[in-house]
Amino acid sequence: MRPRKIPLRKCVACQEMKPKKELIRVVRTPDEAVLIDLTGKKAGRGAYMCGKVSCFKLAKKSKALDRALKQSVGTEIYDQLEQDFIAVEDEFNANKDAMDDDDEEA
Ligand SMILES: [Zn+2]
Repeated sequence: MRPRKIPLRKCVACQEMKPKKELIRVVRTPDEAVLIDLTGKKAGRGAYMCGKVSCFKLAKKSKALDRALKQSVGTEIYDQLEQDFIAVEDEFNANKDAMDDDDEEA
């Protein structure tokens, strides 16, 4: 038995199981918008992806979000999400690293 249970989620693109903090959540809100949710707390159906643009590109190519969110996600939505994904990637990885490594000033 493990002392602590780390919640794992599957990346919809590469299908790897990873700890939640390694993954970026994409949420389909109740009004059917599809957004990146860095807080992981927005209401709606969620899908998880590694914090890597390569996984986003894979999801876009395979339309993995359509399946994970059970909604048709248009090309323009994927394009918008890809831009958002690139914009948050550094922030996401910086915050993730900050948990282990504290050499940057807050
Ligand atoms: Zn992945």
